[in-house]
Amino acid sequence: MLERDHSCSSSIRCPIQARPRHAEQYQEDRQPRRPRRRSQQAQDHPAIFNELCKMLDPGKPSFTPKKGKTSVVMFVGLQGSGKTTTCTKYAYYHQKKGWRPALVCADTFRAGAFDQLKQNATKAKIPFYGSYTESDPVKIAVEGVETFKKENCDLIIVDTSGRHKQEAALFEEMRQVSEATKPDLVIFVMDSSIGQAAFDQAQAFKQSVSVGAVIVTKMDGHAKGGGALSAVAATKSPVIFIGTGEHMDEFEVFDVKPFVSRLLGMGDWSGFMDKIHEVVPMDQQPELLQKLSEGNFTLRIMYEQFQNILKMGPINQVFSMLPGFSAELMPKGREKESSAKIKRYMTMMDSMTNEELDSTNPKLMNESRMMRIARGSGRQVREVMEMLEEYKRLAKIWSKMKGLKIPKKGEMSAL
Ligand code: GDP
Ligand code: MG
Repeated sequence: MLERDHSCSSSIRCPIQARPRHAEQYQEDRQPRRPRRRSQQAQDHPAIFNELCKMLDPGKPSFTPKKGKTSVVMFVGLQGSGKTTTCTKYAYYHQKKGWRPALVCADTFRAGAFDQLKQNATKAKIPFYGSYTESDPVKIAVEGVETFKKENCDLIIVDTSGRHKQEAALFEEMRQVSEATKPDLVIFVMDSSIGQAAFDQAQAFKQSVSVGAVIVTKMDGHAKGGGALSAVAATKSPVIFIGTGEHMDEFEVFDVKPFVSRLLGMGDWSGFMDKIHEVVPMDQQPELLQKLSEGNFTLRIMYEQFQNILKMGPINQVFSMLPGFSAELMPKGREKESSAKIKRYMTMMDSMTNEELDSTNPKLMNESRMMRIARGSGRQVREVMEMLEEYKRLAKIWSKMKGLKIPKKGEMSAL
């Protein structure tokens, strides 16, 4: 599949640029840039894919807390990186699996930090500890950890500050909180959009506290998270989770293959397959997958997928995993408008003949056919043209899946 994906070749260069600049072990591999033929780029894909996977593997797993045995986990990262949100997600993730997590707010710098954590924790019904009046983060952290140890919590999560008047003061504070609470694991939280700056950030934290894992947040945005390569290189720690939204359950265990696929602009194939199994009704799955592997995207298939989108809602998540698909068709937060647009498209398609709906010939839709469809559906010709443009765009993406080996449920790692 990788060799075949010619269309992604233009984005191959980007992950190479995203290589950690200071990571000596990768310096020797760096090639001078020169124009390359498409076929050569395509051939390189698997090599780059594998290399990036290797770069994200620091060679040793992170400390993994054990259920029923008390562990202290400290979160560090710059302000706005998503620490407080991620602390709750991490706690909630474990709580759903039967753990007894607890949250400690050791951010006394930012006004409202405790309120934010309290609000999140209350929503998730997770015990929390913090203070509106105490200004010493070390004192709060120690008290919080002690309190929850007594209460037999098995996962005590310490949220920290991300900003100070002076940077040095922040790192000194992290060092002191860490020394006082003796965390079993320190997690560095980074925003997926920071790019190579992740190296310096991660290294600075690593020099003050013993960072043992990385979490990349905001993977639902446009950024591909290339900075994770830098963070892994700087901390010699693995990425363990990714944040995929603002909500508590928008949190996933890190999986290197889909992550690298996305970095290379190849779409998240295994996530895509997972989603198909999750949201497409069982009886429609074989047919849809068959059509996918044939790669012939007709207007009828588009119509059926629109029906699914309107009926099931979450199916738009399926397509959001493919490059360019839902970003334009179903932008996040504008689902209502998008649904109206889809309904408009479907009305126009209702005025099409079977021949038009089942054709894979792009030349079939001539001017007179477009005029007839516009008349029949009470829309403008330019709207019919817009719908056909959308069809062409989707057909192009769909065609990339031609010949795709369709894995059965549970076989996703084979991709
Ligand atoms: P902190 O300063 O490091 O504690 O960061 P916060 O947890 O307060 O997060 C900063 C902002 O990022 C908030 O508006 C969060 O809702 C948002 N945020 C955090 N994680 C994610 C994520 O995975 N996706 C998105 N879209 N927003 C996120
Ligand atoms: Mg915070």
